[in-house]
Amino acid sequence: MSANCLHTHTEFCDGKGSVEAFCQAAYAKGLSALGFSAHAPITKKTGLKTDWHLADERLDEYIDTVNAARRLWAGKLPVYLGLEVDYIKGLSSPADKDFQSLGLDYIIGSVHYVFPPAGGEPFTVDDEAAVFEREVSRHFSGDGEAVMEAYWDAVEGMISQGGFDILGHLDLIRKNNPRGEYFNPQGERYRRRIRQIAPKAARSGAVVEVNTGGINRGKTADPYPSRELLALLRAAGARVTITADAHEPDHLGGGYDTAREILLRAGYTETVEFEGPERGWTAAAI
Ligand SMILES: [Zn+2]
Ligand SMILES: [Zn+2]
Repeated sequence: MSANCLHTHTEFCDGKGSVEAFCQAAYAKGLSALGFSAHAPITKKTGLKTDWHLADERLDEYIDTVNAARRLWAGKLPVYLGLEVDYIKGLSSPADKDFQSLGLDYIIGSVHYVFPPAGGEPFTVDDEAAVFEREVSRHFSGDGEAVMEAYWDAVEGMISQGGFDILGHLDLIRKNNPRGEYFNPQGERYRRRIRQIAPKAARSGAVVEVNTGGINRGKTADPYPSRELLALLRAAGARVTITADAHEPDHLGGGYDTAREILLRAGYTETVEFEGPERGWTAAAI
């Protein structure tokens, strides 16, 4: 049973540990491949100031560091260069030429931000509970179902633009909704959205990640996407790969057993593993 991890954050963005420390841990844990996916710089193109994205002025250093690790680990551990790119409607997209022209091995397309309906700065749906509550109350008059719809609208917008190889934490909107605080995950409105997204995700040709980041950080018991969404993705023919969304070397491989169990129950019998931009993805039995 092989396992890769293409979703990792080092000290270049909001993770702990160097590129080299991640390589050492991945090798020690027997991972078949390791990819780096720093949060792509957004300040220059969006004007948003954050403390969790790679700084614009460090992009070249990031690329050089990962490429140096690729050479150093050649023959022992395949190392890939990626970015996790935010989709923020009209401001940042995996399809943007500047990201596409970097010569990356892969791009993870992720939605973290939604816009207030009345305009203004976008805010993140995966922020701390108290911050999210404040934003929903301020910009959506506390209407959690409306935020949920805005989130799925953004995901659909990103999918229609394309430019990504992996769909990141597809239902991240669940993060601040563990007890149905904002929307009913069994309700018709939510179900309609995930029924719509599954075939779109499959048709995009991208691989959907089964992200154990929430498990690794003790935030959720299940990966993203949910069991229910995984079953829909399976029915729609979407391919999946397991990732740890690792923010420190220790997270690598964490929660993979849980993810495999859930995948089997959702009807999956295989995941796919990345073998580089030329060879693409190959199937691996779960
Ligand atoms: Zn993310
Ligand atoms: Zn991430």
